[in-house]
Amino acid sequence: MKDKKTRVRFAPSPSGELHIGNARTALFNWLFARHRNGTFVLRVEDTDEARSDIVFQNNLYEDLKWLGLDWDEGPVKNGAYGPYRQSERLDIYKRHLISLMEKNLVYPCYCAQEELEEERQNLILSKRMPRYMGKCRNLTDAEKNKKKNEGRVPSFRFKIEPQVIEFEDIIRGTVRFESEAIGDFIIMRSNGMPAYNFAVVIDDHLMDITHVIRGEDHLSNTALQLLLYRAFGYNPPVFAHHSLIFGKDRTKLSKRHGSVSVGEFRKKGILPEALLNYLGILGTSYPNAQELLSREELIKHFSIERASKSGAVFDEDKLLWLNAIYIRNTETRDLLLKLLPFIESAGYDISGVDEKWLIEIIDLVKTDLVILSDIGNHLDIFLDDKYKLTNEAKEIIKNDENSNVVRLFMEYLKNNNAEAGMLYSDALKYVKRQTNKKGKDLFMPIRAALTGKTTGPQLDKIFSILGKDAALKRLNNYFLQTTA
Ligand code: GLU
Repeated sequence: MKDKKTRVRFAPSPSGELHIGNARTALFNWLFARHRNGTFVLRVEDTDEARSDIVFQNNLYEDLKWLGLDWDEGPVKNGAYGPYRQSERLDIYKRHLISLMEKNLVYPCYCAQEELEEERQNLILSKRMPRYMGKCRNLTDAEKNKKKNEGRVPSFRFKIEPQVIEFEDIIRGTVRFESEAIGDFIIMRSNGMPAYNFAVVIDDHLMDITHVIRGEDHLSNTALQLLLYRAFGYNPPVFAHHSLIFGKDRTKLSKRHGSVSVGEFRKKGILPEALLNYLGILGTSYPNAQELLSREELIKHFSIERASKSGAVFDEDKLLWLNAIYIRNTETRDLLLKLLPFIESAGYDISGVDEKWLIEIIDLVKTDLVILSDIGNHLDIFLDDKYKLTNEAKEIIKNDENSNVVRLFMEYLKNNNAEAGMLYSDALKYVKRQTNKKGKDLFMPIRAALTGKTTGPQLDKIFSILGKDAALKRLNNYFLQTTA
């Protein structure tokens, strides 16, 4: 095992949007593989036909690609260990079922759902661990035939003998389970589909997976899987069960806590680099308490042992903080490309707008963006003639002295021409001379009139981008809106 090339896998069930908890599992596996120059396999566990949907599968690929978690083998890409969708591997599972039947480790179970439920309820009532008590374990051939003739189609159960199951987990150390609590479990359903624990062992073995890195919610599954490894005579991989993500109330992160899927964050305007960085630092710590880590740094410093044992609490504010930094650090031209869909969905048609001019705008406002969709609140200054005034901006003009500042500023603009930057500073000097106002008393009325807001980017820069004509139009509009 020592010299075996590292092979890890991410094995999602495509029954919903990619949850950030699963994205974190994918990231851990990907980082582990990249750190060791190993192979990252994507395997789609789609044997639950009722819940798996091709739409979720396609979204899964998109989300992983968006995050930059490229897989070396898997659907779309293929590889020497395929197929990588479990629904395409059914004959493999059947073969393996037969091999266990031949070893007398499996038996058909004809119990109906209602019978199983009744057994479960009775065990709960008598304060015993609910599990399958082995009703079909010792059926005679005649009994089996009778059930078959009743039209019952069996599932197949794996026989468990009393024992202690123990394994070493890289994150958790020694983990122990008593088989008593388990009961003979189903490995093949009556519809011919393999159960998760069965398929996963066969696939991990056949795909030469060296390390299984997944959430701690799978710890008890690992116990069952180890029994199957033993039954097949396979060497198990190394296991690492990382902590899960919790909400601030310490319950498992779910829709109740707000956005939880990668798609939701993407639609809001979180950058993939920011989400990746956030998931990479969540629940672990890096040398010197470093929090801002590039993809390369995450790979370089990754250590699965460091992934914390206790649950990681999701802190959206921290993600937003990181996102704002990544936005600020994105080259403006690239940022514009990322912003285009958000500009469009904010209702702006910029098809005829000069790109250089747009870049000037983005350059000016990008430090105010926390998420990409914030751009919708920053463009009216430049792109809307009929921008809305905030209440604060409306209040300012009610004061005659403020209104006079704006009138004088307009008057100067109307009567003079110069390059925008110069015109702006000359106009300010003029108003200053006429009114003796300075500082906030001078800037705030002009800002309110020009932008409709009382906060925003630097006024001289806004003016330069707007230019004289657009500025005059907006100032007129301001008076129209406030006197109407
Ligand atoms: N399909 C399982 C899941 O999505 C995979 C768990 C595993 O990694 O074995 O939870």
